[in-house]
Amino acid sequence: MSIAFIGLGIMGSPMAANLVNAGYDVTGYDVTQDRVDRLVDQGGHAARSVAEAVKGADTVITMLPDSPQVEQVAPTIVDHGGPDLLYIDMSTIRPDTSRWIAGQGIRSLDAPVSGGEKGAVDGTLSIMVGGDPQDFERALPLLKVVGKTIVHVGPSGAGQTVKAANQLVVGGIYGLVAEAIVLLEASGVDPGKGLDVLAGGLAGSRILELKRRSMVAREFAPGFRIDLHHKDMGIALAAAREAGVALPLTGQVAQLVAAARAQGHGALDHSALLKVIERLNA
Ligand code: NAD
Repeated sequence: MSIAFIGLGIMGSPMAANLVNAGYDVTGYDVTQDRVDRLVDQGGHAARSVAEAVKGADTVITMLPDSPQVEQVAPTIVDHGGPDLLYIDMSTIRPDTSRWIAGQGIRSLDAPVSGGEKGAVDGTLSIMVGGDPQDFERALPLLKVVGKTIVHVGPSGAGQTVKAANQLVVGGIYGLVAEAIVLLEASGVDPGKGLDVLAGGLAGSRILELKRRSMVAREFAPGFRIDLHHKDMGIALAAAREAGVALPLTGQVAQLVAAARAQGHGALDHSALLKVIERLNA
């Protein structure tokens, strides 16, 4: 089975390497040449263009930054792919872009992921998949190489909608944990001890479990960058507008993430929302 893999960045590179290790014939393309060279070192093949990567492939995977990059490469995939090609976009993009791809006369799935670089390296990503159930069944063996929790959530675009929901929940929890830390410290209570109790009760969450100590210590090395979360809050708000629903808390969280970026923290981990809440109180 031959796979064309477009976009070999933080996430795409280890995902492509895992597919090579599982025995797939992987040809990669990225606008940055050293990322293609790295795939070759890992046992894959190099392509000099999207068209060259796609030619003769059974499946194409894209792992690109955002909707404009996917919109840029999708027409080439449609034009140069064989009749039975399956196109799986695993980037986090707007649901309407996924539906637009599905309308181009090509078999396609939107399959955004959660789990970060570690999940990509370990092959344990959570994958939310939108598209035709038959195409999902066809993609499943391949998705099982890069992910652990893999759920078909509905038709084209549904995977991206679930990812948008994931990102608004994650952003909201970070904002509230940041406010809890500021309240505890301003009241003279040890925030580490306070959050230890929260983590064991009803307020407990995976974010409190994994990030409370680094947040209290003000360690904000990424992880998942504020810049990417800013993009994802924009996707959540666009999806809400398209669905005709009001999401007031999502709007507020989006503004806090935008403030973090405006204050120069775009390259920090999204837990750096704490810096924004601190500055509101300084
Ligand atoms: P990245 O910027 O590290 O990688 C993107 C790659 O795409 C880069 O290597 C870039 O050179 C390449 N690229 C850009 N335009 C291209 C084009 N036209 N043709 C070919 N290659 C092109 O980003 P990433 O962290 O790997 O994220 C990829 C996607 O996964 C994003 O949508 C992101 O939101 C999502 N995501 C990231 C994480 C994470 O923790 N980093 C977690 C979950 C989901």
